[in-house]
Amino acid sequence: MAESMKGLHRSHRCTEISNKNIGEEVTVMGWVSKRRNLGSLIFVDLRDRSGLLQILFDENYVGSEGFEKAEALRNEFVIAVKGEVTKRGGAINENLATGDIEIRATEIRILSEALTPPFPIEENISTKDELRLKYRYLDLRRPDLQKNLIMRSKAATLVRTFLDEEGFLEIETPMLTKSTPEGARDYLVPSRVHPGTFYALPQSPQLFKQLLMCSGYDRYFQIVKCFRDEDLRADRQPEFTQIDMELSFADVEDVIDVNERLLAKIFKEIIGIDIKLPIQRMTWQEAMDRFGSDKPDTRFGMELKDVSEVVKNCGFAVFTGALENGGSVRGINAKGQGAMPRKKIDALVEFAKGYGAKGLAYLAINEDGTYKSSFAKFMSEEELNALVEAMEGKPGDLLLFAADKNNIVYSVLGALRIEIAGQLGILDKNTYNFLWVTEFPLLEYSEEQGRYVAMHHPFTMPMEEDLPLLDTDPGKVRAKAYDIILNGNEIGGGSVRIYQSDVQEKMFEVLGFSKEEAYDRFGFLLNAFKYGVPPHAGLAYGFDRLIMLMAKEDSIRDVIAFPKIKDASCLMTDAPDVVEDKQLDELCIKLDLEEQE
Ligand code: ASP
Repeated sequence: MAESMKGLHRSHRCTEISNKNIGEEVTVMGWVSKRRNLGSLIFVDLRDRSGLLQILFDENYVGSEGFEKAEALRNEFVIAVKGEVTKRGGAINENLATGDIEIRATEIRILSEALTPPFPIEENISTKDELRLKYRYLDLRRPDLQKNLIMRSKAATLVRTFLDEEGFLEIETPMLTKSTPEGARDYLVPSRVHPGTFYALPQSPQLFKQLLMCSGYDRYFQIVKCFRDEDLRADRQPEFTQIDMELSFADVEDVIDVNERLLAKIFKEIIGIDIKLPIQRMTWQEAMDRFGSDKPDTRFGMELKDVSEVVKNCGFAVFTGALENGGSVRGINAKGQGAMPRKKIDALVEFAKGYGAKGLAYLAINEDGTYKSSFAKFMSEEELNALVEAMEGKPGDLLLFAADKNNIVYSVLGALRIEIAGQLGILDKNTYNFLWVTEFPLLEYSEEQGRYVAMHHPFTMPMEEDLPLLDTDPGKVRAKAYDIILNGNEIGGGSVRIYQSDVQEKMFEVLGFSKEEAYDRFGFLLNAFKYGVPPHAGLAYGFDRLIMLMAKEDSIRDVIAFPKIKDASCLMTDAPDVVEDKQLDELCIKLDLEEQE
């Protein structure tokens, strides 16, 4: 039977009490985490979001009725306890903030009883994800998730305070809106009042924050939900949170400056990490050439080397063929991995194929200096030696080569680097390597659509010196766009925006939009630009991923209170769900599910 709290008032959270309070009377409330019944004494670990506190029930203090209630306690019952803080009679628990004290109960009330939970509420449980997510409200009681969400809340508060001090205004933008151009599919919401029309949920507040700059708000930010209907990809959520910002009269340096200080502040205050400023910078081209990735993990080397020149006349047709087709031959040196068993190397070859490689050429340097290689028979001794020298190969090293079109070579070796580092266990979660990647290409060619698409979005400013190339060689134009990378994860990205209508029109032209199409989709922004627009620039962080890295978790699900699974459904609420015919009728929607099948 549930008792009332009447007359009791919680005086402390569990771990707000310490040996400084010995002798004081306190009232605590929370969940029963563990009980030990020693006959005349009952010990209970009480849990709230702050941690655990030991309660001692002794009939001499709590009375016979109270003792009976204590005997009836089960895990996860919610109780209120009044009592005196005393030094622990038994052994001190060094692992607990409150490990040297206990509360000697004088009163207990059972506020709520509980069924036996389907899995234990404790740290680092091995329960299956599906069960945890179905009972997310219980999973969320676990101390590790509570720590993560508390960290998340603190970080959000710090961001707000910091940006407020820097003159940013927090302004909300609509959730029911028109499609925004971030390259994903939109979530649509049918309009009842305007049958046959749909709102789109924002993929980001991009257009609105640019409009706010036109309106003179100068510096904007928002911690905001964004929605992207992307295909099933590991560790993506259909709705996620951004720290979004935009600055007027600002260029690349202004955005980088404020964000470096913001990151330094959050990392220092939340996890005690000093970020060395300024953060290292690298152009996109350098990142691709050295790491095969636009989000390089710089915690370790194993950098790519271009050996095209060295092998251009060799006898191995895979290498020379790739070069003849306009590609390149590049390699990485997995230092000290020369003795890797054949089976493992074969697995790496398969892995590389998953990234589009036709194969992977390898050369292991034995301790005695001889070679073991998949392609040695096609090359002369001199050619092999030259290749090994170019790769700075030493006895005991394993050299891996990809030969193909540049983009494939980059993605194969970029992924291999990370895979091998992972296998070697050298990706240290306690090291935080930040990196700005700058000067991204403005456009990338989409084979699928047969046209150029914006690499960031259509409002990104080309680099001035590359402007003439828009007419002659658009693929070569670099953008004033930047990403902030942490340990190989893109945690944020942004750009300086186009604010001149002639440049914007040119951009749409290159993207293959007619003027009408451009106005149809983005007319409100293009028109706004006719009424006086300040130069502006901005950036958005993926807040979930940022917190995941700070909390040293492997999945963003562990820093989101109610996440969805890979197929975008929620195991707890069963969303998405069917709706009543009446609701569909009101929206003039008829379902044709056969077509789907
Ligand atoms: N709207 C962009 C994004 O979501 C960020 C930006 O350019 O500010 O990636």
